[in-house]
Amino acid sequence: AVVLGLESSCDETAAAVLRADGRILAEAVLSQLQEHSPYGGVVPEIAARAHLEHLPRLAAQVMAEAGVAWPGLAGIAATSGPGLIGGLIVGASFGKGLAIAHGLPFVAVNHLEAHALTATLPGVVPEGARFPYLLLLLSGGHCQCVAVEGVGRYRRLGTTLDDAVGEAFDKTAKLLGLPWPGGPALERLATEGDAARFKLPRPLYGRVGCDFSFSGLKTAVAHAVGKHPAGALPAQDRADLAASFQAAVAAVLADRARHALDMLPAATALVVAGGVAANAAVRQALAGVAAERGLALVAPPVRLCTDNAVMVAWAGIERLRRGLTDPLGHAPRPRWPLEALAG
Ligand code: ATP
Ligand code: MG
Ligand code: FE
Repeated sequence: AVVLGLESSCDETAAAVLRADGRILAEAVLSQLQEHSPYGGVVPEIAARAHLEHLPRLAAQVMAEAGVAWPGLAGIAATSGPGLIGGLIVGASFGKGLAIAHGLPFVAVNHLEAHALTATLPGVVPEGARFPYLLLLLSGGHCQCVAVEGVGRYRRLGTTLDDAVGEAFDKTAKLLGLPWPGGPALERLATEGDAARFKLPRPLYGRVGCDFSFSGLKTAVAHAVGKHPAGALPAQDRADLAASFQAAVAAVLADRARHALDMLPAATALVVAGGVAANAAVRQALAGVAAERGLALVAPPVRLCTDNAVMVAWAGIERLRRGLTDPLGHAPRPRWPLEALAG
């Protein structure tokens, strides 16, 4: 069986063709960095129009590359939430149109489930995770600890009380005068800095449970930058602040992961997903936690950690296997918690 996956929930337009054994036949991702960077963040209306402009071409491209004819597909899987409603409507409607035109089943994929199941993709993630595992979803829009007990079986153990961790990276980067999206730029700057230079807070560190908080940390950076006009901070101070911030985030994430593992003693692996999982300091800190517990850290390749359509197609395959398809009247959901899924 072969499935076409479509992703359009935020600022990545993506399409992929995946075989049921996990073999990727074709994949394409188009980032909308240029479109949004003048505004310093994702503009929902611009994102929706860009998805509309690019998605049909990307879908045709991956189908041609995969060498699969439409009747050869087992179904169409499209991200249907959570996310920005305009983009979700574009992707889900396009997917339903294809399903109607070619007489195929439609799967409305939950974007968080797609991130959660990436770690089980055979072949692509060599040390692939077995259920149950602990998922740390660390992205621009989400920051959660999730017990993944099976397809469609998720328990959220903790979440952020304020900003998502990627959002904290982006806001802090902005304070340091770095271009959007800030995460990768901040990581680069941090390599030239001294992480011990600034004593920044570690919000919720040591607290029972695995909730997160990042706004205090960002505010502390704002205070340190405060007296200087934007960009006039000495270069070494900026680098030291970036390194100190990154170290604080990594320490907090490691501590929260330890507490989350205490809440899921049966966990067979610690899995990270989301754009922040691309950060080397974060990966290193979490690898340390996994090692303490004798667990593997499963970190999918970066292109599968950030938003992509391979993960959407894979979630679609897993649901189709279980006979879980969705009616064409299924409405995209800007908010759609993992616990709402029935496996
Ligand atoms: P969603 O939350 O819906 O999954 P998103 O587009 O915000 O959507 P991703 O595309 O997975 O999520 O990740 C983007 C986020 O990851 C941004 O906040 C970005 O700054 C952050 N990020 C990317 N690379 C790094 C890095 N090397 N270090 C730190 N943060 C990073
Ligand atoms: Mg994105
Ligand atoms: Fe995402």
